[in-house]
Amino acid sequence: MAGMFIDVRVDASIAKDAEIAKKLEEVCPVDIFEATDGGVALVEKNLDECTLCDLCLEAAPKGKIEVVKLYER
Ligand code: SF4
Repeated sequence: MAGMFIDVRVDASIAKDAEIAKKLEEVCPVDIFEATDGGVALVEKNLDECTLCDLCLEAAPKGKIEVVKLYER
C-alpha cells in the first residue's frame, strides 16, 4: 500500500525493531510511523502528508528507510 504521491518503505531488517519504531514515531512531523507491539507500522492515511524532511532517514540505520516520490516516476 502507498499514498498517492508518497510511499515509505521500511526494510524488513528494522521493521520489527521496537526501539527504532519508537524513534520513528517521535521524529516524523506528520505521524507516518506508528510504534506497535510488532514493530513499526505505517499510517497509510498520513503518507501523502510527508514533507520530505528526511528525519526518518536519519533516525534509522543508513539505507533502511526509503521515501519514494511516486509522482516523479
Ligand atoms: S521524510 Fe519526514 S515527513 Fe516524510 S516520512 Fe520521513 S520523517 Fe515523516
